[in-house]
Amino acid sequence: MLDYTFKTHEQKETAGFGRFVVPYLSVQSVITLSGDLGAGKTTFASGVAAGLGIHEHVISPTFDAYRLEDGNKDLGLEEFIEGNGITLIEWPQFINKLIPANALHIVIRNLGGDEREIHVSTTNVAYEKMFNNMKEIYQ
Ligand code: ADP
Ligand code: MG
Repeated sequence: MLDYTFKTHEQKETAGFGRFVVPYLSVQSVITLSGDLGAGKTTFASGVAAGLGIHEHVISPTFDAYRLEDGNKDLGLEEFIEGNGITLIEWPQFINKLIPANALHIVIRNLGGDEREIHVSTTNVAYEKMFNNMKEIYQ
């Protein structure tokens, strides 16, 4: 299990962390995003999108997470994950069974003011280099 926790102190630092992870992703990578409303999930996702060179406005997928809350609806998520791109999933606890074992998990906690705790974990050893670099950059 790779596991690391650090803090950010302003919005652009959380977005910057989104950019940071991009070089370590590959086609079909899945990232789960957890945390209360206003924690910074969309901020992180915007950073990922920017790192990927996507300049469209990143919209919050919150509505979809609510729709999936009963966990029984087949909205084509598996087909989406197996497609040609990176998938970010907000509030994965509602669809636990659909989350691939190799996903990267990010939990963001609001510590008050502009301080956020970012918890990053995965069982996927392909992220080992990312964790090593993350520990040096984010302390
Ligand atoms: P979520 O998608 O989790 O609901 P958003 O990313 O939409 O959260 O919003 C995060 C809010 O918190 C924004 O208003 C942002 O300006 C504010 N904020 C303050 N400090 C931080 C920080 N360190 N990281 C991320 N967002 C922060
Ligand atoms: Mg959001």
